[in-house]
Amino acid sequence: MLTAAIGFIQNIQLACFAVVFILIALHDRENRCFRWLAAAYCAGLVGGAFDLARHLLPYWIAVPASVIAAPVGYACIHAGVVHFLSRERRLPWFSAVLVAGALCPIFFWSLSLPRAFGPTMDRITTVQDLELAIQTALTSILLLTAFDLETRWPRRVLGVFLSVYSSVEFARVAVYLATGQLPDRAAPWVETASGIVYVVSCSVLPLNFIWMQNARLHAHMTRQMTTDALTRLLNRRGLNQAGELEVARYLRERRDFAVALMDIDHFKLLNDTHGHSGGDQVLGETAWLIRSLVRKSDTVARIGGEEFVILLPGTPPAGAANLAENLRRAVEQHDFWIEGKKVNITASFGVALSGDRAHLDWEALLKEADRALYQAKHDGRNRCRIFEGPLSGEAQWSSGDEVQENRATLPS
Ligand code: GH3
Ligand code: MG
Ligand code: MG
Repeated sequence: MLTAAIGFIQNIQLACFAVVFILIALHDRENRCFRWLAAAYCAGLVGGAFDLARHLLPYWIAVPASVIAAPVGYACIHAGVVHFLSRERRLPWFSAVLVAGALCPIFFWSLSLPRAFGPTMDRITTVQDLELAIQTALTSILLLTAFDLETRWPRRVLGVFLSVYSSVEFARVAVYLATGQLPDRAAPWVETASGIVYVVSCSVLPLNFIWMQNARLHAHMTRQMTTDALTRLLNRRGLNQAGELEVARYLRERRDFAVALMDIDHFKLLNDTHGHSGGDQVLGETAWLIRSLVRKSDTVARIGGEEFVILLPGTPPAGAANLAENLRRAVEQHDFWIEGKKVNITASFGVALSGDRAHLDWEALLKEADRALYQAKHDGRNRCRIFEGPLSGEAQWSSGDEVQENRATLPS
C-alpha cells in the first residue's frame, strides 16, 4: 500500500524530471550524460504508463514492460555516470546484459500470471529488486572509486546514497528468500526503509547530477581564469595565487624559495620577421622547454607577452642560479622551426631569493626578480642576474644604482 502510494507520487516526479532532462539534453547536445539521464527518466515514465495500463494490455506485455523499466532507468543512470566520468565503455554493456538477462524469467513467469497472480508477482518483484540492487551497487562503486577531484563531494554523496539504496534492495531480496514473502508482509521495517529510499532517490538523484555538473563547470571556469590559453601555463592571476601560497609556505616552513623571471630577447623583432603565429609557436615551444627542465613541484607561468615566471620552492640560492643558467643555455641552444626555417632565440633571466627574512611579500619578491631582469637586459641580454637581499624601502626602486649594490652576477 505504502509503496503503491509512493509509486504514484514518483510517477509525477519522474514526468517532471524527464521533461527537465530532455530540455537540458536538447539544449546541450554535446553532453551525453544528460542524454542518458533523460533516457533514464523516460524509461521510468514508460514503466509507469505500462503499470497503469496493466489491466488493458495482456500480462505478458504490461508486466515485463512495467517491471523492467526501473532497472532500465538505473542502467541508463549508470551509463550517464560512465560518460560523466569518461570511464571505460564496457560497464554500461554489463548493465544492459543484466537487464536483458532479467527480462527472460520475468517474461516467462508473466505468461502464467492469470493462474497464480500472488506468488508469481512476488517472484517477479524480487527479480526487479535484485536488478535494482546490482545496478545501484555498480553505479555506486563507479562513483566512489573515481579520481575526479573537482566533483568529489557530489560524487561521494550520490555514491553513498546509492550504496544505501542497494543495501535496502538486497535486504528486500533476502527477506523474500528467507520467508517466501515480500517485505510488506514479512518485514514491514524493510518496506518502510525502501519507501523512504524511493522517495529520497527522486530528489537526491537529479539534484546530485546537477551538483556534479555544476562542480565540474566551476572547476573548469576557475582553471580558465588562471590559465594562459596559448601555453596552458598559469597566467598572472594564477601566478599571484601560487606565489602568495608559496610565500605563506616559506614563512611557515622557512625553506628557501626563489623566483626566476625570464624574458625572451628581441621578441618584437621575431614577431616582425616571422609573423605573430611564428611568435606564438615559439612561445608554446618555450613553455614546453621550461616545463621539461624544471621539477614537477615548480610552478611555471606566462605573464605578459614573452615573460615567464618560475617559482622554485625549496631551492637554495645556488640551485636557483644553476637552474636559471641551465634554462638560459637550453633556450639558446634550442632550434625552433618556423615554416621550415631554423630560428634561434635567447632569453634574459632575473632571479630573486627569499634569503632569511622574517617578512616576505610576494609582490616585492616579484619586483626584485624584475629588477634583476632589468639588470640582465641592461648588461647586454642573454644572461642571468640574481638579486640578493631584500630592498629595505620603495625609494630604492627608483634608481638602478642601489640594485647594482644588491646584485650578484652569474657568469654569462
Ligand atoms: P627585449 O629584448 O627588451 O625584451 O625586447 P622585446 O622585443 O622582447 O620586448 P618588447 O616588450 O618590446 O616586445 C614584446 C613583444 O611581444 C611585443 C608584442 O607584440 C609581443 N607579444 C606580446 N604578447 C604576444 C603573444 O601572445 N604572441 C606573440 N606572438 N607576441 C606577443
Ligand atoms: Mg622581451
Ligand atoms: Mg617583455
